Amino acid sequence: MADYQAPLRDIRFVMNEVFDVPSLWASLPKLAEQVDPETADAILEEAAKITSGVLAPLNREGDEQGCKWNDGEVTTPDGYREAYQTIVEGGWNGLGGNPDFGGMGMPKTLVAQFEEMLQGANMAFGLAPMLTAGACLALDAHGSEELKGKYLPSMYSGVWSGAMGLTEPHAGTDLGIIRTKAEPQDDDSYKVTGTKIFITWGEHDMAENIIHLVLAKLPDAPKGPKGISLFLVPKFLVNEDGTLGERNSLSCGSIEKKMGIKGSATCVMNFDGARGWLVGEPNKGLAAMFTMMNYERLGVGIQGMGAAEASLQSAREYALERIQSRAPTGAQHKDKVADPIIVHPDVRRMLLTMKGYVEGGRAFSTYVAQWLDISKYAEDGDRRVLAEGMVALLTPVAKAFLTDRGLDACVLGQQVFGGHGYVREWGQEQLVRDVRITQIYEGTNGIQALDLMGRKVVGSQGKLYELFAEDMADFIEQNASDPALRPYLEPLAAALERLSDVTEHVIGQAAQNPDSIGAASVEYLDLFGLTALGYMWVKIVKAAAVKAEADTSGFYTGKLKTARFYFDRMLPKTVSLAESIRSGSDSMMALHAQEF
Ligand SMILES: Cc1cc2nc3c(=O)[nH]c(=O)nc-3n(C[C@H](O)[C@H](O)[C@H](O)COP(=O)(O)OP(=O)(O)OC[C@H]3O[C@@H](n4cnc5c(N)ncnc54)[C@H](O)[C@@H]3O)c2cc1C
Repeated sequence: MADYQAPLRDIRFVMNEVFDVPSLWASLPKLAEQVDPETADAILEEAAKITSGVLAPLNREGDEQGCKWNDGEVTTPDGYREAYQTIVEGGWNGLGGNPDFGGMGMPKTLVAQFEEMLQGANMAFGLAPMLTAGACLALDAHGSEELKGKYLPSMYSGVWSGAMGLTEPHAGTDLGIIRTKAEPQDDDSYKVTGTKIFITWGEHDMAENIIHLVLAKLPDAPKGPKGISLFLVPKFLVNEDGTLGERNSLSCGSIEKKMGIKGSATCVMNFDGARGWLVGEPNKGLAAMFTMMNYERLGVGIQGMGAAEASLQSAREYALERIQSRAPTGAQHKDKVADPIIVHPDVRRMLLTMKGYVEGGRAFSTYVAQWLDISKYAEDGDRRVLAEGMVALLTPVAKAFLTDRGLDACVLGQQVFGGHGYVREWGQEQLVRDVRITQIYEGTNGIQALDLMGRKVVGSQGKLYELFAEDMADFIEQNASDPALRPYLEPLAAALERLSDVTEHVIGQAAQNPDSIGAASVEYLDLFGLTALGYMWVKIVKAAAVKAEADTSGFYTGKLKTARFYFDRMLPKTVSLAESIRSGSDSMMALHAQEF
């Protein structure tokens, strides 16, 4: 099994050459105070060391051992506690956190790169810092100053970890029907009672305390999503002086046996009148969660891509070493009994498709992260509004497209290994099992597609879509005279026009037929994602072309050739998607339930 190596060169290329994020940071005064290119690069270097050197070596063993539950206690796989300590010592939980409470205040454009390395190295472990960062984000955005002061510093440091309690046995997608209740007490606290399931890292032995953010209903709350509130419920109560007090009345009833990410604990959490504190306003809990979700959902998309990068690294190495059959054009390595499988066009198709998704996906997640930074730090109101619109539109695409393609890429990586990809030895089957969850949690990909098509595109009557279309059209226009880009701009413009036509078509259909949104949504998201990655690949070409001539390493020329493959073999899939979407909902809705 090839050892995962954080792809630092590619990450630096995307950050500095494709997007020039240091210039973005310099243009946002509040951010410019907090980060400079040298510090950022030192952080990347250290992140690469920890993820490749500490977390990746635990990935296989964590999968084999899994977490163990015994009488409410969860024991993590060997090495996890020590690795978590490394995360605490580096303050990695607080990398993007609010400096007023001990966070490092780094931009998402940098944090996203750390997340890729973390998730590519060890997704099961990586969920712990990821969920803690997410819980901090919700608390920072909506909690009272008192709650923030009491909890954030220890969560950013990682001494305490965070967990998110939304799902219940009967309520997953439809959180409006949750039953967990919160009753106000004489002091400022609430008694929280109910059962949450599937709570990632809800219980474990790596941190001193676990801070649960729990969705619950107040007495007499309105029915449905408008009656949900958010509560902070610590495993151990925290004294006024910040020390840990008595154990709160919550416990882990069991942990799930599951397909992948076995090194992580997926917990049933029972809250038996546990003391909790309201975060944000009563009945606005779902909105509070959604503030955090734009960040988290990009993070889950990055998980998909991180796993795909790990799969690509080992598939590439295997394809260079495994010898099998001769090249169709005749023997390439006459000294050997057969040629390495990388000579075969189909093996190249698999590796190039993986590269197309992984490298294009890395650029896309950085592009979305840029908009997140602008939406958070821009002083100019119009720029902030534009960025917020972009984030709203692009987040479901990043979550669902990068995870769907993440699985596709891992399956391709497994296929490169033939039968050796199916057995445990090489690690490919673990990646396939691990990445699969990314399509399901944090809102299934079907729900992401409905969010994109229904709420964002149709809901804004195309206005949010126009923001993205204009950004792409401006780029095409501004670069029209660049000879390196000429072969790409015409097909890119055609793909944009196709997407715009389909967008208009579905908006028109939606007014007459409510089923047309759900019938189009998943394919629309794919069409959107493929077009957006086409845009990213042209940005990559623009950055690589200037360096390609002097390139003897193959780094830049490899980018140009992969872009060619993307435009020849991957972007054309938008044509069939557009046609399929235009067929409408009739064939989907024609069957009676019993005809299935
Ligand atoms: C390993 C793991 C870790 C998890 N971690 C956490 C965690 O830390 N915290 C937490 O709160 N939850 C967590 N979850 C729960 C996860 O977020 C939910 O499983 C997910 O949101 C889907 O909910 P559900 O399983 O109830 O499926 P359901 O909501 O029952 O959905 C079933 C199917 O119906 C589809 N569907 C539902 N409604 C609609 C609709 N309106 N239109 C179209 N299709 C629809 C869905 O897309 C899906 O395909 C985790 C789950 C797993 C397996």
